[in-house]
Formats: sequence, structure tokens, C-alpha cells
Amino acid sequence: MENSLTAISNNIMRVYRSLDISIRRIQMETGLHCPEGCGACCLHQNVEATVAEVIPLCHYFFRTGYVPRIYEILEIYKANANLTCILYLPDPDNTQHGRCQFYNFRPLICRMFGFGSRKNRLGQMDVMTCRMLKQQEDAYQRYAAFIKQHVELPVVSNYFYKIAMMVPEYGLKLMPVNDAIQDCIEFMYWKMRRRMRPRLAS
Ligand code: SF4
Ligand code: SF4
Repeated sequence: MENSLTAISNNIMRVYRSLDISIRRIQMETGLHCPEGCGACCLHQNVEATVAEVIPLCHYFFRTGYVPRIYEILEIYKANANLTCILYLPDPDNTQHGRCQFYNFRPLICRMFGFGSRKNRLGQMDVMTCRMLKQQEDAYQRYAAFIKQHVELPVVSNYFYKIAMMVPEYGLKLMPVNDAIQDCIEFMYWKMRRRMRPRLAS
């Protein structure tokens, strides 16, 4: 099972990398970028992910021996009813600034926020943007013009289902990101344990 978890993790990372390339292209063509150090979207109390989206992250935790420490942090956040993402490290000198400590493994919404699109209730595509990006007036205008020309910003649901279909039982339910990390660690722990059982018995 460990091998299949590794394969799933690698496949999800492939999807993330192709998404990152699309977003980098938009950034290069328009000059619109997240300001250095901005972490405002990480401060939202409702960042959501599926268990599947955090498989590469948790796979990394297992590979590097981080699991006990991460589990401890999850418990502390839960006890304090702190809904901020556990991966966020705030800048002590600026409350709006900070960084993702595991940026390479961040889930889908964290990659798409600011540069993705999603269908609204009327079936029209909404651009996912933020105040910080809108403040970069020239670049934002180029971005708006780019959208008009190309129309195909990365669409959240396309990437969501690509990942969900790799592990359907863990890919469809969105939940607070910290819960997704905890559930994913538990899911991976039991999968790996089951694989070890026959070996321990022999
Ligand atoms: S998407 Fe917006 S809030 Fe998030 S880091 Fe970029 S500029 Fe900041
Ligand atoms: S996973 Fe990283 S980018 Fe996403 S909310 Fe947490 S700290 Fe921010």
C-alpha cells in the first residue's frame, strides 16, 4: 500500500505542477504577482481542502518523521479552537504577512487563490481574486484584459475532480484544512500499518 500511496502522491504532485505552470504563465504575461510576504489569504478561518489534496503533504510528513510533531500541533490548535492553518507561520512584525512552511505541498485552493476561476450560481465564471491583487492597478488591468482575451483561467472544479478521481473516497469532501491534514495522517497511518501486519507476524 505504501507504494500505491507514493504513486498517488506523485500523481497529485504532477497535477499541482501543471497547475503551477498555468498560473506562472498568467503571472508572467500580466505582471500580476502576490506581494512579497503576503499571507492574507492564509489567515482566513475557512481554508478548506480534501484529504486527497493533502496526501503529498502528509506523505512528506511520514517520509521525514514529522508526523508526531504535526499531530501535537493539530491537537494544540484544536484545544484552543484555533482555525488558522497549522502550516502558516506569521511574520511577528506584520500581522498580514507570513509564509506557508510547506509551500511546495500546499492544497489546491492555496495554489489557485488569486489566479483561478470558478462557476457561480448563475453558471458564469467568477475570477478568484483579492484586495491585494486589485491594488496593483496596472498589472490588474492587464490581468483583466488577459481574461477577456483568453477566458481559460484554470478552473477550480477541473483540478478538484482530477485529484478527487485518484482517491474518490477521500477526494470529494471539503473540510477545514487542519481536519483534512489530521484525517489524511490517520488514513495513511492505517493503510501503512495494514501493509506491515503480515510482515510482523512472519
Ligand atoms: S492571493 Fe491575495 S491574499 Fe493571497 S497571498 Fe496572493 S495577494 Fe496575498
Ligand atoms: S496550506 Fe500553506 S498556503 Fe495554504 S492556508 Fe495553509 S499556510 Fe497558507
